[in-house]
Amino acid sequence: MSNGAQDKGLIFVVSAPSGTGKSTICRRLLAACPDLEFSVSHTSRMPRPGEVDGKDYHFISRADFDLRIARGEFVEWVENYGNLYGTSAQAIDGVLERGKDLLLDIEPRGARAIKERYPDAVFVFVLPPSLDELLKRLEKRGHESSDVIQTRFAQAERELREVLWYDYAVFNEDLETAIRQTVAVYWAEKSKISRLRGKMDRFFKFSQEG
Ligand code: ADP
Ligand code: 5GP
Repeated sequence: MSNGAQDKGLIFVVSAPSGTGKSTICRRLLAACPDLEFSVSHTSRMPRPGEVDGKDYHFISRADFDLRIARGEFVEWVENYGNLYGTSAQAIDGVLERGKDLLLDIEPRGARAIKERYPDAVFVFVLPPSLDELLKRLEKRGHESSDVIQTRFAQAERELREVLWYDYAVFNEDLETAIRQTVAVYWAEKSKISRLRGKMDRFFKFSQEG
């Protein structure tokens, strides 16, 4: 057993094609799980109405993004819909060292890179009930032109196939059910003995002393 050190936090990756309802589920997951913190990615895209710099993303220029790539600041980064998105090592490591858990809302290519670097991370894929319903939700978000919506929809169909290497699939048909299921996965993973070595060690030491 370990020397009773603090157990490291959990990396919880949630991916889904655009429009599936991932942001909605992630917001509710964060509200329900106090030990879970959101990993704020960097992006070169412009903020959408209501998005807050430093909270939803770190919004930076493409030149600044390129500089950070060259400095090796990103654990993973991708170009998506003509914009750059990346997770910095700083966004991950500080949080895990404090024993807190980290929620990454990233697409499947980035998720793969995280799996290679952090094999203990948990990977959840959110799916729409059907492709028709996905298209409706993309249109409902209402902040994009029909060209952009069509591009996102075509990419969504490709991305959906990635679900096969993930650990868990959540169909977002009824929102409340999907949220409960995602929260349940989080707590099941938190309860794994393999993630509780430090706590077990302290527990048994304490039992022997008492
Ligand atoms: P994403 O982050 O995956 O792009 P959003 O969370 O922005 O998706 O959701 C896209 C749209 O679909 C929003 O208008 C949201 O309110 C709606 N939505 C999310 N989940 C459901 C659901 N289960 N049933 C119906 N509409 C939903
Ligand atoms: P959006 O522009 O709608 O916020 O995000 C577009 C896509 O980029 C989503 O699938 C989102 O999960 C993904 N994304 C956001 N941040 C990152 C990141 O840091 N890395 C990767 N690989 N994907 C990201």
